[in-house]
Amino acid sequence: MSKNLSTTNQAELTPLRELSAWVGSNPLLTQASTGNTSIKLEGVLWIKASGKWMADAIREDILIPVDLAEVRECVKHKVDPAARFTSASIETAMHAVLPHRVVLHVHCVNTIAWAVRQDARVQLEHQLDGLRWQWISYVPSGLPLAREIEKVLSVAVDTDVLVLGNHGLVIGGEDCSAVEALLSEVGRRLAIYPRQAYRPNYDALSEMTDSSGWALPDDEEVHALGTDAISGVVLSGGFLYPCQPIFSNSSTPEVFRPVACPNPRDQWESRFRTRPFLIIERYGVIVRRTITPAQRAMMSGLAQVVQRIGSSTPLRYLSEEEVANSSSTIASRYRELADASRYSSAR
Ligand SMILES: [Zn+2]
Repeated sequence: MSKNLSTTNQAELTPLRELSAWVGSNPLLTQASTGNTSIKLEGVLWIKASGKWMADAIREDILIPVDLAEVRECVKHKVDPAARFTSASIETAMHAVLPHRVVLHVHCVNTIAWAVRQDARVQLEHQLDGLRWQWISYVPSGLPLAREIEKVLSVAVDTDVLVLGNHGLVIGGEDCSAVEALLSEVGRRLAIYPRQAYRPNYDALSEMTDSSGWALPDDEEVHALGTDAISGVVLSGGFLYPCQPIFSNSSTPEVFRPVACPNPRDQWESRFRTRPFLIIERYGVIVRRTITPAQRAMMSGLAQVVQRIGSSTPLRYLSEEEVANSSSTIASRYRELADASRYSSAR
């Protein structure tokens, strides 16, 4: 990349950094290194670097420059630009095909709670009525997603809101304030009040975590995954979105199925030794002491999504093939980077 960062560009990047940091510090909008932002300036696409946390946008240089024409050329030739520009976001192709100057992609928990429904499109038609929005059925991140977006844009050119099935939300606009305004409008329309869960059984959980390799999660709301019966049913059905298999290092939803509270005399620690967390029916959740910040953030986001899904909601889980796909090369690269970054930082 030979383009120099002009003073104008530097000034233009500041609002995007601020927007990214604001979005990144809201766990209801983004978790760990998920989500990404970009701005197109003088033929350069400034995009979030892969594995970086949006929450760090002010104190760290999380935006990197890539040549927009080159990225678009890649997409045209069916090459994923994330494979060529390896430090750029996994969603670089998506940001490049969107015509908007500023693009924001988030794993907003309210949006996801709608986007995992079998009837998502019909439901969203009511919720987002009057906005220039489009629905994209689930496709893997990267090139496949970008190409689906291209198809939709070819018939609905003025689209500035995309809801991605089993994934999240994309918003485009002329500048950061337009994007922020649209994000809050969509957020207002898609807001769901989360179900209140029973209190965790701290006595029983503490007994398990005392002098063991396990600990209590620092986000108390994560316990809802165990204490809320409806959550248990929702989680048992399968993976709702790719971050679950990616961040849990598991290709089967088994790891998210609540288990009965083990008898302290049982060899439960060795039985569950490969698990990063344990969801205990009616009692709550315990996490391995070595759990990564990215995994913690994924758990918090999941609890928020699931508490927004009703017991009779028709759900569209990821198929085995989709899970296998998400655990492929791109996903493992995504996970490694996500874990490496912020590994030791406090939450
Ligand atoms: Zn995403």
